[in-house]
Amino acid sequence: MITDPTLMNQFFVNLEGVRVLGINDEAEVPEVHIELERQVVGCPICGVVARVQDRRAVRLTNLSMAGRKIALVWNKRRFICLDVACEQGTWTEVDHRIAAPRLSLTDRAGRWATFQVGNQGRDVEGVAKDLGCDWHTVNDAVLAYGEALIEHPGRFADVASLGLDEHLMVREGQRRHKNFVTAIVDVDKGQLLDIVPDRKGDEPKAWLRAMGPAWLAGVTAGTIDLSATYKSVFDDVLPKAILVADPFHLVKLANSKVDECRRRVQNETLGHRGRKSDPLYRIRRLLLLGKKRLDELGHEKIMGYLAAGDPRGELQMTWHAAQSIPELYEVTDFALAEEFIDELIRDMAESTFPVEVRSLSKTLKRWRTEIIAWHKRQITNGPTESMNNLAKRVAFGFRSFRNYRIRALLYAGKPNWDLLATITPR
Ligand SMILES: [Zn+2]
Repeated sequence: MITDPTLMNQFFVNLEGVRVLGINDEAEVPEVHIELERQVVGCPICGVVARVQDRRAVRLTNLSMAGRKIALVWNKRRFICLDVACEQGTWTEVDHRIAAPRLSLTDRAGRWATFQVGNQGRDVEGVAKDLGCDWHTVNDAVLAYGEALIEHPGRFADVASLGLDEHLMVREGQRRHKNFVTAIVDVDKGQLLDIVPDRKGDEPKAWLRAMGPAWLAGVTAGTIDLSATYKSVFDDVLPKAILVADPFHLVKLANSKVDECRRRVQNETLGHRGRKSDPLYRIRRLLLLGKKRLDELGHEKIMGYLAAGDPRGELQMTWHAAQSIPELYEVTDFALAEEFIDELIRDMAESTFPVEVRSLSKTLKRWRTEIIAWHKRQITNGPTESMNNLAKRVAFGFRSFRNYRIRALLYAGKPNWDLLATITPR
């Protein structure tokens, strides 16, 4: 049996200058009691040798050993400055190797938990259960280590194409508050750089300016949804960057016009909202499929139901107009693409077309430069895999913006996990 304190330290803690006082194996989770070896401590303000005032036992959740849950109980000394004229008063000893101040996980357990949640995508709940502690203990550690990891400057290096996109963050709680946030993305790397509050322009502008002129000079292109607010961010802060309207968002907008038209025609012809048996309602999904994914049978089905439910051919016209949007992106030559879009703008503006098609023409006209810019620089903001996963996995259920931001960035921000062993938690 080992009774020597130094050997016990090697076995349980393995930190120089830490003494194991004993092990309480009668506690529900076995406790290893430790203290720091005695040494002369000076007051941080005046330097006068301090006196130990008292001790306080701090319980820390540690990594399991050999499958058994284990806790460290750190007998922390509280010091007092003996110089009566000094303002310091009392203070408690700190040792980051054991645990970061304010956290109830040991340093080792904190780093492990951060990796489990942030890199492996595990639930905080499950990690807490493994360690034998509560949700907050793990979450606090993930935020503290995670924040240091995502703010490492190396993560922001070499960004050439920047995307701005709005995301929905749903807060936990009775009301399930909906808040929009702005995601700042390196679209070449598919990497989430940061998340800032709301979908207004001020926050992204401030974020970009804080990166400094050298960093901004490296950004030569940007992509946005069809949002005037985000366009103003680029106009103000990155006026020289080529700005590209995200194709995914444009196609989505065209599809929304098909939906609008379908609902209007439905209402005008049958006098009620779409029901299961209504012809136009039956093809509502087929209409959004796009030419490439629509087989012959689907096409026939659409034509059949349109004949039944679209007497003036309005939905058919809108459907065709929307289908010509993806075709714009099949053109590879810039000059041809310019001709193509000008033709679309002109054709769709004709008074014989339904209001939805004419509105699409207006959008194309307003965003012509940015839409056509895709043919100079083929970048897209929307369906990058990491952002989709992000939306599915961490876009809801957060109590605070900080929590949401750190978790999202650990997941989709591509932090350098090799640094996890060396960073200092916030
Ligand atoms: Zn002092």
